Order: sequence, then structure tokens, then C-alpha cells
Amino acid sequence: MKRRIAIAFVPLVFALPTWAQTAPTAAQPTDPKATEQWEPVPKVVMPGKQDGAPPADAVVLFDGRGLDQWEASKDHSPARWKVHDGVVTVDKATGNIQTKRRFKNYQLHLEWQVPKDITGEGQARGNSGLFAASTGPADEGYEIQILDSWNNKTYVNGQAASVYKQTPPLANAMRPPGEWQTYDVIWTAPVFAADGTLKSPAYVTLFHNGVLVQNHTELAGETVYIGKPKYVAYADAPIKLQAHGDHSKPISFRNIWVRPLD
Ligand code: MG
Repeated sequence: MKRRIAIAFVPLVFALPTWAQTAPTAAQPTDPKATEQWEPVPKVVMPGKQDGAPPADAVVLFDGRGLDQWEASKDHSPARWKVHDGVVTVDKATGNIQTKRRFKNYQLHLEWQVPKDITGEGQARGNSGLFAASTGPADEGYEIQILDSWNNKTYVNGQAASVYKQTPPLANAMRPPGEWQTYDVIWTAPVFAADGTLKSPAYVTLFHNGVLVQNHTELAGETVYIGKPKYVAYADAPIKLQAHGDHSKPISFRNIWVRPLD
């Protein structure tokens, strides 16, 4: 018992000199209320009932029932990827799909699954992509890579959770094929001046299965397959999912929602 009391007092003893240093003097403020902020009061957002569920103010992009929020990137016709069993599976034949709505800055949640019996290697194994902002019908824009990176070697700035051909993830947080993966993204859109010059670059923060893999990463421009990235001015943009042209089995998505932060 005595020993326990002694331990409990240790932090107090160490804390005392700190209090002594902050004793009021003529030059130092004395009112703790002077540094309290009361307005504006943050809005109430009812969180989802469990982790990953959309909060009350989210724009639900896919809840397992249909693709009414999405269109084909190539011609804005209705998105024709197959919805089944509460998920949507990439249809490589019909190409990329994108949100009908356009976004600037946002928080996004998305879940994706590589088929358990995936085949292929490198970039040809469960390749898709989340374009945080789409600037054209094909692969124009800013791609966060989606790929099977469970025991699948490729260039590191092209593995899952990379900013494609720009920044490798801080860690490989991949779950094996057949299991669901989560991406939680904070996207800060680039800002352009009226003449099209870049005022501030894009940034992305990304959690892959809850692990921080991109930490306020600055983008050098649009993600490109060949050559150097560069910025091309755009305003608000759709969010796009990639139908990659490799021959491995298509991946699936579920539970996609976004919270605009403008
Ligand atoms: Mg891709």
C-alpha cells in the first residue's frame, strides 16, 4: 500500500516546477478565459452506427443498391457496372465510371475487394484506381492506386495506396485477396488562378485499413503513366473509379460515401 502511494505522488513532484515558472508576472496574461473560443459552435454531425458507416451529413455514393449517383466517364450515359449482393463489380468492357456530382475538397470512405482467386502479377493483378478528381474520360486526373499488393511486387510508386507514379505509401497495409479493404481519404483540391496558373497544389491524406499511408502528401500534378506530372487547371471535378485494361478478374466496391469540406 505504501509503495502505491509513493508512485502516485511522482508526477505531482515533477509538475511543481512547471507551475512555478508560470506564476503571474506583469508581462504575462493571467486570465484563462482570454484564450477560450466559444463561437462559432461546430455543427453537430451524427456519426455512423459503426466504423465505416456514413455519418449523417455524408453524400452516399454507393450503398449497395444501385449506381444512380454514377455515370460512364466516356459519354455520361448510365453507369453499367454490375451491382449484385450489395456490391458493385468493375465492368472492364464499359470503362471508367464517375460521380454525376462534382467535388472540391472532401473526406471520402470507400471499400474494395480483390477476388480471392485473383491471377496475374505486377500491375496486371486487381488493378483499378480511385481518381480523387477526374479531369477527363480516360485516366486523366489524380489517381490513388488500387491493386492487389499482397505478395505482389511492382514499382513502389504504383503499388496499392500510392499516389500513382508519384508517392509510394508509407506502409503496405494490404489484406489478402478475398478480404475487404478500406480507404479513408482527405482530399485537398489544387487551386488555380484565373489565368490557369497553380496557386496551391493538391494534397492527399490516406488511411488504408486504418493505417496512415499518405500523410498530407503534396501532388506534383496529375498522375500520368508516362512522363512527368503537371497541373492542368480545372474547377470542381467528379470522383472516378478505374476500369483497368488488364486481364485479371475485376475487383468490387461497396460502401462509398463522401463529405464535401468546402
Ligand atoms: Mg490503377
